[in-house]
Amino acid sequence: MFSFRLLPSTATATATAHGARLGRLVARNVQIDTPAFLAPTSRGVVPHLSHDNLRDHTDIRGVYAALEDFIEKGIPGSPAFQFPGPLRAFTGQPSSSLLFLAARRCPPVPAPATNTDHSISMLTSVGFRELEVNDYISCLSHLQPDAVIGLADIPAKKAGKNRMPKMVDRTELWLETLLRITEGSRTPIFAPILPIEIEQQRLYIQSIAEEMSTRLAGLAFYNSTLVPDMPSELEGLPRFAMDDPATPHILLQAIARGVDLFSLVFPTEATDAGFSLEFEFPGKVEGGEEGKRKPLARDMWAGSEEMKTDTKPLVEGCNCYACRRHHRAYVCHLLAAKEMTAWVLLQLHNIHVTELFFDAVRKSIADGTFEEDCRMFAMAYENEMPKQTGGGPRHVLHVPMHGCDDQRNANGKID
Ligand SMILES: [Zn+2]
Repeated sequence: MFSFRLLPSTATATATAHGARLGRLVARNVQIDTPAFLAPTSRGVVPHLSHDNLRDHTDIRGVYAALEDFIEKGIPGSPAFQFPGPLRAFTGQPSSSLLFLAARRCPPVPAPATNTDHSISMLTSVGFRELEVNDYISCLSHLQPDAVIGLADIPAKKAGKNRMPKMVDRTELWLETLLRITEGSRTPIFAPILPIEIEQQRLYIQSIAEEMSTRLAGLAFYNSTLVPDMPSELEGLPRFAMDDPATPHILLQAIARGVDLFSLVFPTEATDAGFSLEFEFPGKVEGGEEGKRKPLARDMWAGSEEMKTDTKPLVEGCNCYACRRHHRAYVCHLLAAKEMTAWVLLQLHNIHVTELFFDAVRKSIADGTFEEDCRMFAMAYENEMPKQTGGGPRHVLHVPMHGCDDQRNANGKID
């Protein structure tokens, strides 16, 4: 059973210029109040967090997993498919979080080979390969995710005018096939909305609204600026943004457009960079209107000499496990020692800050003060994350999803 309903807020539709909305998604007795975020996983794990940490010290209600993380040379021989239980059991995810499955990571490493009429190109743990559309669909009965993102034909490079109609035709056909084959199982399916102009995919969206909406569980946007262009018939479906907002400011803009769910990478990117997130919603402007804007995060690598002996928590007043039990000097020391506990503590803190941010956003929408609070947040905090100064546990680059000029090669480096 997968359900979503919109909740009323104090603000009336006519009184607000924004489209931010409150909703409640329920599946398998797990409830997610929206706007909310799903934690992206790497090979089934939220980076830096063991399963007991995830269960005991976070309130994560949903994770995003990519099939390409679980495929090796062939699908049948891969461990996740030899394992007798569903993917949630294979990855040890707590039952208190929902598992959303898509074919590719979010954001994906661009694949050198092109998609075909029957397959998409993906990066598995043993290199690039093709995934047949029918294989993706047949995997679902074994993996039993709580929700599935339909396959989208998205080329690695920005699509030209001639390529776009093919993207739309293939995506629509693949979605129809997915819906037809899974009809009996009632698998919750999110229809992909392509990252191209709305005019280019209007017929596809119309067909979703007129013929498929009753069978769909939601919409997955590869470009969330298209959310306000959706027809009113699709208003009741949850909107999942897969375009990876890089900062809380961009996240707020997407919430104001009416996005309900996000796959959110920046908390983990901040952790990898050795940052402790420091923002809260809506925040306060210190020193009046002309006050200096505060940084979104503290770079624990670039700590001054004082921070190395600073026994205050990462953020004063923060109630997360890391801030209750440890202090800045200890995290600085762990980073300098390249001790992985540094990133565990930072990730616990950064996830906690993100959870509080979403709690406050939902309260603000409910109280009808969201627009005003967003203005306050914009005045209170700098636009960008600090520049990374230290080495992370992994090489990290933020690459926009699609349509970017630079492309990663197989090693994750920008060509
Ligand atoms: Zn904390």
